[in-house]
Amino acid sequence: MPLIDNLLTLYKVDRQVRSLRSRVESAQIYLNVQNRLMTEIGVEQAESNLKRKQHKANISNIETEIGAVDVRIEHLREELNQAINDKQYSALLAEMNTIKVHRKAFEDEELIEMSAVEDLDANLADISQRLEEREKVTKVASKELKVREAEIAEQLAELETEREAAAAVIPESVLDEFESLADDYDGESMAAVEIIDLKRREYSCTSCSLRLPLDSITSMLGNKDAHVKCVSCDRILFLEAESREAIAPADT
Ligand SMILES: [Zn+2]
Repeated sequence: MPLIDNLLTLYKVDRQVRSLRSRVESAQIYLNVQNRLMTEIGVEQAESNLKRKQHKANISNIETEIGAVDVRIEHLREELNQAINDKQYSALLAEMNTIKVHRKAFEDEELIEMSAVEDLDANLADISQRLEEREKVTKVASKELKVREAEIAEQLAELETEREAAAAVIPESVLDEFESLADDYDGESMAAVEIIDLKRREYSCTSCSLRLPLDSITSMLGNKDAHVKCVSCDRILFLEAESREAIAPADT
C-alpha cells in the first residue's frame, strides 16, 4: 500500500484509540480533582487541630497561674486574720486587692481562649462533615474509573494491536513526525484537501482552512509515497478518493 494510505490507516486507528482513552481520562481527571480536594480538607483539619491544641495548652497554663494565685490569696487571708496592727493589715489588704485584679485578668484571658476552642470545635465538626461527603464522592469516582477502564480494556487492547500493525509499515522518520503531530493536535495529525475551485485550481486545508499551493497538490498526485504537509498548520495532507478523482480523473 502507498505510504499515504498506510498513514491514513494509522490516523484512523490512532483517533479511535485516543477517543477510547479520553473516556477513561475524564474519569481519571475527575478522581484526581476529588483526591486533591480531600488533601486540601486534610490540611485544613490538621491546621485547625494544631490551633486547638495550642489554645488548650494556653488554658492549661492559665489554670496553673490561677491555682498559684488562689494559694497566695488563701495565704494572705490567714495573714490578714493574724495581722497585729493596722499598718500591716492595710498592706496585706492592698496586696490582696492587687492579686485579685491579676486573677480577674487571668480569668478574662481564659474566657477568650475557651471561646477560641469553641469556634475551632465548630470548625472541626464542619471539616469532618465535608471530609465525609468528599470521601463518598471520591469512592464513587474511583469506582467509576475502574468501570470505565474495564469497559474499554478489551477494545483498547484490540485497537492498540491494530495501531501497532499500522505503525509498523511506516518508515520511522515519518512515524516520528506523525506521532508528534498527533500529540500536538490531539489526534488530528492529518487533514484532507478541500477543493475550493477546481477550474481555478484552488485548494485549501480542511483543518486550518488556509489556501494550499498548487505544488502541494501536484506532489500528492504525483507520488503517493510522498507525504505532503500543510504549509500553514503542518498536518499531513491527504486527498479523499472523490477529490483525487475530481482533480485527476485519468489517474484513478
Ligand atoms: Zn492546515
